[in-house]
Amino acid sequence: MGGGAYIRSMHRTYQYRLLPNKEQREALGRALAQTRYIYNSALDDRIQSYNNKKSASYLGLTYKTLTKFDQMKALTQWRKESFNGVKNDWLGAWVQHGALDRLDKAYQAFYRRVKSGGEKAGFPRFKGKRFWKSLDVPHHIGYQVVGNRVNIKGLGKLKIKMHRPLPEGHKQCGLTLTQDGKGWLVSMRVEIEAAPDKKLVMPENVVGVDMGIKRFVTTSLGEEKEKAVLGAYYDYEREYRKEERQLRLKQRAVERSKKASSTLDGCEGKNLAKRRKAVQRLHEKIARRRKDFHHKLSTILVDKCDALAFEDLRVKNMVRNTRLSKSIHDAGWSAFVNMCDYKADGAGKHCVTVDAKGTSQVCSACGAIVRKDLSERTHKCDCGVILDRDHNAAINIKKRAVDVLARYNSSDGKSGS
Ligand SMILES: [Zn+2]
Repeated sequence: MGGGAYIRSMHRTYQYRLLPNKEQREALGRALAQTRYIYNSALDDRIQSYNNKKSASYLGLTYKTLTKFDQMKALTQWRKESFNGVKNDWLGAWVQHGALDRLDKAYQAFYRRVKSGGEKAGFPRFKGKRFWKSLDVPHHIGYQVVGNRVNIKGLGKLKIKMHRPLPEGHKQCGLTLTQDGKGWLVSMRVEIEAAPDKKLVMPENVVGVDMGIKRFVTTSLGEEKEKAVLGAYYDYEREYRKEERQLRLKQRAVERSKKASSTLDGCEGKNLAKRRKAVQRLHEKIARRRKDFHHKLSTILVDKCDALAFEDLRVKNMVRNTRLSKSIHDAGWSAFVNMCDYKADGAGKHCVTVDAKGTSQVCSACGAIVRKDLSERTHKCDCGVILDRDHNAAINIKKRAVDVLARYNSSDGKSGS
């Protein structure tokens, strides 16, 4: 992450809302059913083929198990035979391939987990309706984007709400259509030209950023400067903490009606479905607002500094996980760092990640280690320094980044990592 001065091209994802008409909505629904069927059948075939291999090896025979390519060939053959030369409005082959692609990725991830041994491996599962909400078109051949429409065979020319333009001279690399509570979204993966070469950095223009649960970001700037830089976004999280409370209340209501309905006849009541939908909508609303907040905050920070520094989140998470809505914060943090990273790239600025070890324990003034647990919000050192805990951490992050960037500067900016 960060620091790459000689990237030739890079990938970005642009997400937009789709505005399908009634007919297209129905087609999208059918496409979900069809690709889910393909995914589940292909999984079934793979399991069969694995069992065949096991029986064959008992008999001392060799048997090659199915691969993605075998399954793609079979799909093509099946399409050919069913079409029989007749013109049709079937779902595009690439949308169907998307399901096979996804299965293959699930298998690869499974093998990776088995190999690494650390986590529970979790074999690929058959997908129920509630767990199949998106369609992949893994190759640009499968669709065309013309103006504010995306044309996909079998789905029609779907209108896109283009709230920001696609970058100049981009190349399309596949897309995903996702159904949410409001309708449909399209995420387009595009390849764009290399970022500009990065500037050398003065240490005073490096800003360390500590991310936390209490405050989303605390910078090394100190309260006064930070207020000036962030403006209206200085204490913004307070706003969405209100919404999170609301969400928790609604979730509890769902849990309650779940219990109530299971004691009756085991069927899901109308109320439960309604409440579940309300919770989903609120989830999405919070996610949208938070993403918007992250966008604004990252734009400001990249704009005002030459280099941003964060802690390596993998380590940070291990150190600081409390039971507090872990997934929400984890996802938010890394998404935010990613935003800062690509915006910095685009602006020829730096985004650095540093070792997270002890950033909250080390004194940023004298380097002494001042042990404190999570509940202690103030850093008080024998050297006389008293700082907010997160502010102290942010200064340490900045110092580590200055070291990293000094190496970059001394190599004349020619050696990206
Ligand atoms: Zn000290």
